[in-house]
Amino acid sequence: MLEEKLKEVIRDIPDFPQPGIVFKDITPILKDQTLCKEVVFEFARRLEGLEIDVVAGIESRGFLFGMMLANHLNIPFVPIRKQGKLPYKTISESYKLEYGQATIEIHEDAFEEGQNILIHDDLLATGGTVVAASKLIEKLGGNIVGYSFVISLDFLQSHGRLTRFSDQVVSLVH
Ligand code: IMP
Repeated sequence: MLEEKLKEVIRDIPDFPQPGIVFKDITPILKDQTLCKEVVFEFARRLEGLEIDVVAGIESRGFLFGMMLANHLNIPFVPIRKQGKLPYKTISESYKLEYGQATIEIHEDAFEEGQNILIHDDLLATGGTVVAASKLIEKLGGNIVGYSFVISLDFLQSHGRLTRFSDQVVSLVH
């Protein structure tokens, strides 16, 4: 089963990036091109029926499978990046972190008003990042049709924070 395979290769890195945090490292998946394809096929299979116009991926690990998935679905990919990284005109959204705050941005011409957007990231933790990304998409008049994550940390129970935007949430590893 794909979930089991992924669990075998995803590494737990204790105390990264700070003491007390166990970081889920997805980079070993990227070393296995067959597994990468299986991941993309599984996302596509689980998202079948959703009319997705654009995949929006969140910096930086959300670019990896986000771009592969968009390309597989033959639709555009749009990057959502940390403040100050995107070169053209942007709109931004700030959100709270455990300590301090973060700001993410999207190009103001990233997609057309009314288009159906799938938001992709590698991992769902508290949901703060994807909620901020969802607000960016809505500010530009996008219609959020779903979310995809390689990993969901279910014990944080953040799934409910997303359902006000879309109840279509696909996670390959729980
Ligand atoms: P959230 O905003 O609390 O849901 O955190 C999710 C964001 O933090 C995503 O953009 C992830 O890439 C990143 N993140 C948090 N924890 C991890 C981890 O253990 N592995 C990989 N990324 C993580």
